[in-house]
Amino acid sequence: MTNKNEYEPLVLAVDDDPLMLALVQRVLAGVAEVIGVDNGVEALQRAVETPPPDLILLDVRMPGMDGHAVCRRLKADPRTSDIPVIFTTGLGEDEDEAAGFEMGAADYITKPFRPAVVRARVRAHLQARMLTRQVRQDNALLDRKVRERTRELEAEIQVRRETEQRLQHQVYHDDLTGLPNQVLLRRYLTELCRRDEACGLLLFAFNGFVEINNTLGHQNGSQALALFAQRLQSLVRQFPGARRIEGQARLVRMEGVCFAVLVDPEHGTEVLLRAARELQAEIEQPLGYQGMSLSISAQVGIAWAPEHGKDAETLLRHAHIALQQSAQEEGQLAVYREDGDQYSARRLSLLGDLREAIQEGGLTLAYQPQLDLAAGQVCGAEALLRWEHPHFGFIPPDEFIPMAEQTGVIRPLTDWVLAEAARQCAAFRARGYTLAISVNLSARNLREPDLLERIIAHLAAHDLPRDALLLELTETEMMRNQDGALAALLALEAAGLQLSIDDFGTGFSSLAYLKRLPVRELKIDRSFVSDMLCEQGDRVIVRTIIQMAHNLGLKVVAEGVEDQPVLDALAEMGCDRAQGYHLCRPVAPEAMLEWMGREELSSVRV
Ligand code: C2E
Ligand code: CA
Ligand code: CA
Repeated sequence: MTNKNEYEPLVLAVDDDPLMLALVQRVLAGVAEVIGVDNGVEALQRAVETPPPDLILLDVRMPGMDGHAVCRRLKADPRTSDIPVIFTTGLGEDEDEAAGFEMGAADYITKPFRPAVVRARVRAHLQARMLTRQVRQDNALLDRKVRERTRELEAEIQVRRETEQRLQHQVYHDDLTGLPNQVLLRRYLTELCRRDEACGLLLFAFNGFVEINNTLGHQNGSQALALFAQRLQSLVRQFPGARRIEGQARLVRMEGVCFAVLVDPEHGTEVLLRAARELQAEIEQPLGYQGMSLSISAQVGIAWAPEHGKDAETLLRHAHIALQQSAQEEGQLAVYREDGDQYSARRLSLLGDLREAIQEGGLTLAYQPQLDLAAGQVCGAEALLRWEHPHFGFIPPDEFIPMAEQTGVIRPLTDWVLAEAARQCAAFRARGYTLAISVNLSARNLREPDLLERIIAHLAAHDLPRDALLLELTETEMMRNQDGALAALLALEAAGLQLSIDDFGTGFSSLAYLKRLPVRELKIDRSFVSDMLCEQGDRVIVRTIIQMAHNLGLKVVAEGVEDQPVLDALAEMGCDRAQGYHLCRPVAPEAMLEWMGREELSSVRV
C-alpha cells in the first residue's frame, strides 16, 4: 500500500468566481492540493494532464461551457470517466440535483460553503477514491504477480516434464547404446503374453569381448561394443518379423554382451533359423576400430511363446537356457529344449529328493564283477549307484550324478557310496571272497580337503586294508585342473590307496601326463571295447592301449564286454581283466554272490 503521508491528493476546482477558488483552496488546505481553473474548457484540458486530479469540484453555473456539459464530457472520456465530480451550486439556484447524479456526479455541495462540511465531504470522497485506486493498484500488482508466477510454473512444469522424460528414458534404455533395455523388454513381453500373442525371443551373446577388453582396455572395449551393437541393430532391421519394442528400436541390450530381438512367428521356424545363422555370419565380419580390425562371434538362444513360456519371466529364462545350450551346439545356436534345462521343475524336485534318498536309505549299490582273465577268477567288482525314485521310477546315475556334482550334493553322496561299499566289501570277505571294490569318484571329490581322511575312516570301520577299495576317476576328470587333481591323487596314493583311470581313451591324455599319474590301473572305455571286432580302428586302439599301459606298468581292464568273441580277443591281446554284460550285469550283492558260486562261471573262463 502506498503511504498516505507521501501522497497529497490533487483536487481540481472549477469556478468562474476567483473568490470561490481561493476559498476552496483555504478550506481544503491540509486535505489536498488544489488547482483552480475558471472555465470548463480549461478544466477538461487539465483533467487529462498528469498528475491527474483525484477529485473535481465543479461549479454548475459558468459562462460558456456550464458544469453539466463539462461533467458529461468528463464521464464520456475513459481517461477521466472515473474521477469523482462534486457539483457546487449557489443557494437558491434552481438546480435539479437528480439530473446531476444521473450524469455521474458523486455529490452536491451548496454555496455558501460551510468549511467543515466541505472538508468532510471532500475528504470522504478522496478516501474512497484513494481506496479504489489502492485496490486497483493492488489488483494490478496481483495480476502481474499471478502472470509472473504462472509463467514460472509453466517453466517449472516444462523442466519437470523434461526431467521426467529423461528419467523415463534412462529407466527404459541402455546408457552405452541408447537401445531399449531389459526393463522395457519385460514390460513389452508381459503385455504380449497377457494378450496371448505368439512370438519368438532371440538372445544374442557376443563372444570375444574378454579378449578385446583385455587388449584395448575397458573404455575402448565399451566403444567397440557400442559399434558392434550399432551394426547388429542395422542388421536386425532386415530380420524377418523383428518387432519394434514399444514403437522404438528392434534391438534390446539385455546386459553386458547380451542382446535380444523379438520376432513375429508368421515366417516360421525355418526362416527364422536361417536368418539367425546369416546374422551370426554377418556378426563375424571384422569391424574397423581405430585402425584395427576386430573380430567377434555370437551365439544364439531362441525360445517361443507360448510353447516355451506363457509369461515373460519363463520365456526369458528359457531363452537364456537356450543361449547356454547353444555353447554346446556346433552352430552356436539352440532352440530351447526342456531336457537341456538344468533348472526344470523335475530337476529341482529330483535334487531335493536325492538329498532325502541319501539320508533315508533310498539308494542302493549294484555290483558288477570283474574277471581276472589270466586266473579265470573274479577279482573285484565295481559298485554302481542305483536310485529307484518313488514317483519317477529308476533314475540313471548319468542323470543324477552331474546334478549332484553341480550342487555340492556329490560330497554326502560319495560318502554314502564309500561307507556302503566298504561295508559290502567286508561282507564279501566274510563269505570268503577277497574282492577289491571299485568306487567311482568325481573330480569335485578331489577338491575336498578331508577326502583321504574320510576314506581311511570308512576302511578302518570294517578293518579293511587300504587296497580293499579301488578309486575310479575318469580320464577327463583327471585332466581337468591337472595340477590340483595331481596333488590330491598323489596324497591318496601315498596313503596306500589304489587308483584307476576310468573311461580311458575318451580324454585324449598325453602319454607324458599319464606317466606322472600315480595310478595302478586303466579301464578302456566301453565304446572301444563293445565294437572292437567290427571296427578295425577300435581294435587297433584297444591293442595299443594295452601295450602302452603294460609298458608303463599298469593293469588294464576292458569294460563293456558284451560277448564271448570280444572276451576271447581281449585275452589274446593280453588284457588283464574284463567287465561287462556278457559276464554279469550290475546286480545286488546276493545275486553276485550267487553268480560267483555258479558252476557256469567256468564257461566264461578263457
Ligand atoms: P562307468 O563308471 O563307466 O560305469 C560303467 C557303466 O557301464 C555302468 O552304467 C554299467 O551299468 C555300464 N555297463 C556295464 N557293462 C556294460 C556292457 O557290457 N555294455 C554296456 N553298454 N554298458 C555296460 P551305469 O551304472 O548307468 O553308470 C553310469 C555312470 O554313472 C558310470 O559310468 C559312472 O560314471 C557313474 N556312476 C555310477 N555310480 C557312481 C557313483 O557311485 N559315483 C560316481 N561319482 N559316479 C557313479
Ligand atoms: Ca566306473
Ligand atoms: Ca567306465
